Amino acid sequence: MTAPRPPEFEPEIIEAGRLLFAGPCDFVLGVVGLDHLPDTDIAEVAFAGRSNVGKSSLINALTNRKTLARTSNMPGRTREINFFNLGGRLMLADLPGFGYAKVPKAMVEKWTRLVNSYLKGRPNLRRVCLLIDSRHGVKESDTAVMKMLDAAAVSYQIVLTKADKIKVAELAQCLADTQAHLRTHTAAHPDVHVTSSEKGEGIAELRAALGELAERKPV
Ligand code: GDP
Repeated sequence: MTAPRPPEFEPEIIEAGRLLFAGPCDFVLGVVGLDHLPDTDIAEVAFAGRSNVGKSSLINALTNRKTLARTSNMPGRTREINFFNLGGRLMLADLPGFGYAKVPKAMVEKWTRLVNSYLKGRPNLRRVCLLIDSRHGVKESDTAVMKMLDAAAVSYQIVLTKADKIKVAELAQCLADTQAHLRTHTAAHPDVHVTSSEKGEGIAELRAALGELAERKPV
């Protein structure tokens, strides 16, 4: 069985994505309440996923920084939305992780409320990357989030993480299952990205895809 291929991009799109993510990337702020969302005009992409899915690692791999997401996502502050500004061209919003087994119901509700209001209040939000651990595939809590995104009519895209952790055949199966699952979700982008933050697989392609959503010039 051959390894699943990431979506393909023209070399100039890959290069534009590389340049965007190689440029300045500044931590803007972390917000717990929606009164404090940064008021910006620039295109925004949000990252969501179950706790431990590899979200911080992916943001660090994309921006080629070792501690960007982690340092601003310290224990006790993990229910925040953290914003990073890529040179005035793209805002990255790191949403709090969800679906952690031991989290009490009240916190799940708080997460849902926070993220739902965030989704409704961000006109510049171009896409949500929903991260799925390729070892586990789509879980019930992921489906719940997809339904939430469908209902909010927010375009989203699945990014499989930790591709280096499983065998090629299992990865291909996970990709096929995920693609089949997506057919029932109206707001889902059909391309699924397969990534490994550890090995760098699929990172250039994801940069390219996100680069296509960025402002052409800094705002
Ligand atoms: P978060 O809670 O979603 O932000 O997840 P982290 O980025 O902190 O990652 C959770 C764990 O998975 C850490 O131990 C990471 O080192 C590990 N991890 C994340 N991405 C990868 C990957 O691509 N490959 C491997 N092998 N491990 C990864």
